[in-house]
Amino acid sequence: MSTLSERILKGEEGSFVDVKVDRAIAHDGTGIQALTAFREMEAKKICNPERITIIYDHIVPANNSTTADLQAELRRFAFERGIDFHDIGSGVCHQVMSEGRVLPGEIVIGADSHTCTMGAFGAFSTGVGASDMASIWATGGTWLKVPETINIRLEGRLPRFSEPKDVALRYVGMLGADGATYKAIEFTGENDLGMEGRLTISNMAIEAGAKAGLFYSDAETCRYLREYGMDAEPQKTEDCDYVREETLDLDDVEPVLAVPHRVDNVKPVSDLEGIPLDQVFVGTCTNGRYEDLKRFADVVRGKKVKVRTVVVPASRAVLLRAMETGVLRDIVESGATIGTPGCGPCLGAHQGVLGEGEVGLSTANRNFKNRMGVGAEYYLSSPTTAAFSALRGEIASPGVRP
Ligand code: SF4
Repeated sequence: MSTLSERILKGEEGSFVDVKVDRAIAHDGTGIQALTAFREMEAKKICNPERITIIYDHIVPANNSTTADLQAELRRFAFERGIDFHDIGSGVCHQVMSEGRVLPGEIVIGADSHTCTMGAFGAFSTGVGASDMASIWATGGTWLKVPETINIRLEGRLPRFSEPKDVALRYVGMLGADGATYKAIEFTGENDLGMEGRLTISNMAIEAGAKAGLFYSDAETCRYLREYGMDAEPQKTEDCDYVREETLDLDDVEPVLAVPHRVDNVKPVSDLEGIPLDQVFVGTCTNGRYEDLKRFADVVRGKKVKVRTVVVPASRAVLLRAMETGVLRDIVESGATIGTPGCGPCLGAHQGVLGEGEVGLSTANRNFKNRMGVGAEYYLSSPTTAAFSALRGEIASPGVRP
């Protein structure tokens, strides 16, 4: 019996396989590097341009002339070669891809480490470097070592105020930042996690070093994809050999934070209450989806944030839905600032980085030293913890009203 990765990659764990890539993704940062590599390898033709997607998300709109020139060059290349191109304002590449562009069982390769996000659909989805991406542009395929698999059973229902982000931080804390290096994680179990929550959980697999983080497609996957006009089939689970098996009881998951400067340094929010904050940031490929914005709005509605707060919808579709439902209005009226759909300050280049000595709370997936501001500190949390903390201007437990 095979793991889901073995079934999709058609090889036994530990073996090397040549695969055809169903979807190849690059963004404004890695896309230009891939273009340079593509030219250096003197490749002439793009193989299957309809399977290649370039999404501008990392520094959008361009922050200076150098960035603008590089973006213009890659944009021209994408148009000339018939590549599926999404310009500024479309959103974070992983969110845009999750909006009806990936099916269960596909092989998805992205020039970005959080490509593991699409494992939520039961796809084998992983990140590569820019030169590997250039090679995929030229040949349509790549090679992979079929990973061993860790099984994490997610059982039960999350309590009020606990969220999929708390689950993600919990399992990363449990495995450690290198606990799943070059392994796949399969998430199974009886639970009521929806697609947006699964995307958050798969997104953070790389924070434990994992190559991929997969859920088996099921009725919820099929329902979600039907909304985008896509037909999908559930994937059957099989008895298979895992290298490690863990169970997380969702009923016991409390709101947690990752403490600077490690994603796997995870502590209950209640242990850290009262730490003053200079900024709260809600967004990214981890927690910038509609449900995340709604959770934030549900807490801040009718109140004022006490600290500068930046909210960046993960995509144009998320922004539009938040506009239509009034979620955006609630957020703006609370005093928060809205950024262009995309990565926002997540990579420390644009749209709200912190100054030296400042302390932030973010719904992103990484709090590495200097990532979102040189000399700054970032705690990572769920959107609900971020909302209660924004209202207090300090780290605050969800449920404790200011
Ligand atoms: Fe990377 Fe952050 Fe953008 Fe996600 S939102 S792709 S983690 S920079």
